[in-house]
Amino acid sequence: MTTRYELSRKELTELLDGEPKYRVDQVWHGLYSQCKEPHEITNVPKQLRIAFSELLPAALTLVRETEADNGATVKQLWSLPDGLLVESVLMHYRHRSTVCVSSQAGCAMGCSFCATGQVGFDRNLTTGEIVEQVIRSSQRAGDKRIDNIVFMGMGEPLANFQSVWSAVTRINSDMGIGARHITMSTVGVVPGIKRLANEELPINLAVSLHSANDQTRNKIAPINKTYPLRELADSLQFYMRQKTRRISFEWAMIEGINDSDTDAKQLASYSLPLRAHVNLIPLNSTPGYQTRGTDPKRILEFRDLLESLGVNATVRNTRGSDIDAACGQLRAEQQVVLKTRRSAKSS
Ligand code: SAH
Ligand code: SF4
Repeated sequence: MTTRYELSRKELTELLDGEPKYRVDQVWHGLYSQCKEPHEITNVPKQLRIAFSELLPAALTLVRETEADNGATVKQLWSLPDGLLVESVLMHYRHRSTVCVSSQAGCAMGCSFCATGQVGFDRNLTTGEIVEQVIRSSQRAGDKRIDNIVFMGMGEPLANFQSVWSAVTRINSDMGIGARHITMSTVGVVPGIKRLANEELPINLAVSLHSANDQTRNKIAPINKTYPLRELADSLQFYMRQKTRRISFEWAMIEGINDSDTDAKQLASYSLPLRAHVNLIPLNSTPGYQTRGTDPKRILEFRDLLESLGVNATVRNTRGSDIDAACGQLRAEQQVVLKTRRSAKSS
């Protein structure tokens, strides 16, 4: 069954066959610019609203919601029509609000320290399932406007390019969120980076680097065996030439793995030619990875060393870590749910 945010405007026009164009505009505007539920689009006749809700149900059902940071961070766990679970996180800051969305149910990239990677891959999300996370977060935010979207939830967005890209264009053109306020985070899927470079919208690109040494990166982010650091750097140079946009690197700080002075120097040599900004992320512990996060004092030393080498670096203030709502993180509990589902499927 087609769900509500799956249809393009043309498909909606076909569905509302016989209705005048202004009606289609009212429905579209109500759904996307105003983030309304169909029954709230009161400028269209009631019968049409009812028919519309029945024909096009929502794809996401809220399973659980958890708040942290005095309500400034809200993690929502959604069930998809086939029962799989994904999460989105809404983060309110003083002057802006950001939504972190998932692009896949699970992830096939297998990064050792990542809760999503440890669970494995189920399937790509559809355009509608991605867009709906933004709409539902926006509804949850009430009168606070959503200004930023980050693709840093579950999954590797560039491994689901087509759906993610049509979600991006819908979020941009129909929800009115500027391309410069949309950030795609990738572990380094080189063909996806090249494809992104050829798209028109100048969105932000964040690359989860975590190591500037092929041997270490092969272990913690196995995609590096397919697209090693040299190839990744070439694709990023291409991206920058095409877009004239800066990129940023994400670096989860893992004790004894990527937090030595040598690691900082390798990172500096890698990032300086790319003029990339570095975000240092305190590691969130996950059940499937025994290594600990770098202690906060060492993170600051690492940042200072990078700065002294000429790299712009900031330590990311992780939101909602007490509820494991930091982007890209799933609750251990949810993993158990997913694992249980998987063994139920295979038995
Ligand atoms: N697949 C994409 C986007 C989702 S992950 C990517 O990897 O970039 C979003 C971010 O969360 C990435 O930077 C990822 O490296 C980071 N992340 C994953 N597990 C983490 C953990 N245990 N602690 C801190 N950051 C983590
Ligand atoms: Fe996938 Fe990103 Fe997690 Fe790696 S860090 S397993 S790419 S979600």
